[in-house]
Amino acid sequence: MDSLTGNGHFRLRPIQWLLALVALLLVALWSAILFDIDRARQASHLRAADNLGNLTLAFAKEIESSIKTIDVTLVDLREHWQGDAALFRQALNLRQSYLKDELILQIAVIDAQGTLVFSSLESPTRPLDLSDREHFRTHADRRYDALFISQPVRGRVSGRWSIQFTRPIYDKQGEFRGVIALSVPPEYFHRFYRAIQMPSDGVISLQRDGGEILARYPDPDLAIGKVIQTAPYHSPEAAEAGLFTKMAEIDGIHRLYAWRKMPRYQLVVVLGYSVDSIEAGFAAQHSRALLAGAALSLLTLLLAWLRLRVLQQRELAEQQLSENEQRWRYALEAAGDGVWDWQIDRQQVIFSERWKSMLGYAPDEIANRLDEWEHRVHPDDMPRVRKDLAAHIGGQTPIYHNAHRMLHKDGHWLWVLDRGMVLERSPDGQARRMVGTHTDISQQKALEDQLKTLATTDPLTGVANRRHFLERLREEYLRIQRYPEARCCVLMADLDHFKRINDQYGHSVGDQALRHFSSLLTLESRETDLCGRLGGEEFALLLPETDSQEALLFARRLCRRLRETPLQAEGHSITMTVSIGISRVKPGDRQPEEALQHADNALYRAKHAGRDRAEINE
Ligand code: GH3
Ligand code: MG
Ligand code: MG
Repeated sequence: MDSLTGNGHFRLRPIQWLLALVALLLVALWSAILFDIDRARQASHLRAADNLGNLTLAFAKEIESSIKTIDVTLVDLREHWQGDAALFRQALNLRQSYLKDELILQIAVIDAQGTLVFSSLESPTRPLDLSDREHFRTHADRRYDALFISQPVRGRVSGRWSIQFTRPIYDKQGEFRGVIALSVPPEYFHRFYRAIQMPSDGVISLQRDGGEILARYPDPDLAIGKVIQTAPYHSPEAAEAGLFTKMAEIDGIHRLYAWRKMPRYQLVVVLGYSVDSIEAGFAAQHSRALLAGAALSLLTLLLAWLRLRVLQQRELAEQQLSENEQRWRYALEAAGDGVWDWQIDRQQVIFSERWKSMLGYAPDEIANRLDEWEHRVHPDDMPRVRKDLAAHIGGQTPIYHNAHRMLHKDGHWLWVLDRGMVLERSPDGQARRMVGTHTDISQQKALEDQLKTLATTDPLTGVANRRHFLERLREEYLRIQRYPEARCCVLMADLDHFKRINDQYGHSVGDQALRHFSSLLTLESRETDLCGRLGGEEFALLLPETDSQEALLFARRLCRRLRETPLQAEGHSITMTVSIGISRVKPGDRQPEEALQHADNALYRAKHAGRDRAEINE
């Protein structure tokens, strides 16, 4: 049945197409949205990283120049230290206004034993041992002149947090004589933070290479004196500048950090923007994109759902229809009929297996094209087929049926009864699809022909029987009535002394004699003439388009032909003769048989005149 339904190949159903399309659409939509969001996030991170990189560089430069200023001050003051506190204070007072501007908390001098010998805040009343200070131990150990920057310490005198910048003091012989220290509050470094616009949750800090926080903004008190344990810039291989993201140890905020090292002072500046603040710019855009995506997805799903319902209903209807079709097709095939299904608008016909086998073909030997049928129809039958088909397609007949001959694969003609109906029409009435059957009626046709022959011919001689002859005579009579100038003659022929042949040679030879005469009659007559046996040894002949003189000539020729052609039967040569009466079918005749009666009268005259002759009844 595959050839009928055409469903032999795997095909995606419309519902599957729809679902695939929706899935594809959603995947494409969300890929685009997520890609866009990710690109925006990357762009904002890149911008923040650039910004941070620039700021750390500026910050590092600023710190370096501040430290340089402090160091210059330190070296300058050290020159004035002669071991005399009063003199030194004088030198200090000269620089007072400058030192105040620079926020310097205290200037202190420690001797070679670590005892505080001078403080700008107040002179020590009792000896204060500072030999445990980191700077003192560093300078005492290292024995060369270099700036040292301490971790933040809480001053024993001031009680305030400070960072101490120290240099060693040597005497003329190069002996270590103590340390001069300049204390700076962490706020000293805050000037820079205030000068720049930091986003909320942003952080900026100055650390020693060891991770000790010297200054941090904001919340300086929260971090001061703390040590950052793990950061990528702690590693000795770490580059001078770099970026990383980290959850801050101090406040637990997730940030993008940039660092820049100052190897000269073993310091590092670190700036961080919270990831939230970096992404704040595109967060609105992000949620707008998500919202638009969600709305589009919902709309797509809604439309798809509506479409899906329509498709499901259609599929159900199609399924029911195709089940019905299958049923009736099976029924028709089972009944031995071939089935055809013609998609008129697509120029495609599907022929069933039975349809093909009826014409002697295998299923794959006939394609789904109309011409497979057309070129097999007998050319003589085609005009009638087209007429009947057009009448049905045009809506004039409720059903199409036509009996025509079709060429079988082996070359013989097959009589087919073709029946069908238009099943679908377009809204404007054009036939779209027609379905029908082929029934092989060759046997019926043969039987019909046989019956027709039996009903119209004389079984002994094969010429028309009396009834058929009279029918044709009636047709000619009617034609003459309608067209009085038309001509037609009737001949009546009666074999002479036929009784004798029967008597002399037997009935069987008599029959042969009848066949002998009828064959001569057929041979002599034209195709348009009609020979008939009216009964016994009486024959008649209908000669259309013939006048009585022509008929007379014909009759004489027939008499001579019979006379000169003896019957050869059972070793005998039997010469036969015939008498013929002729009459015209006249427009004035009251009935068809009247001409026959006149011919019979002429025949009677011929018999009486001596037989073997023809007479006319004008
Ligand atoms: P004519 O017509 O010359 O006057 O003489 P006839 O001998 O032919 O006379 P008639 O017409 O009276 O005889 C016809 C005979 O033909 C009678 C019948 O035995 C014979 N006959 C009629 N039908 C058949 C038939 O079918 N077969 C045979 N063998 N003879 C038939
Ligand atoms: Mg007779
Ligand atoms: Mg006779």
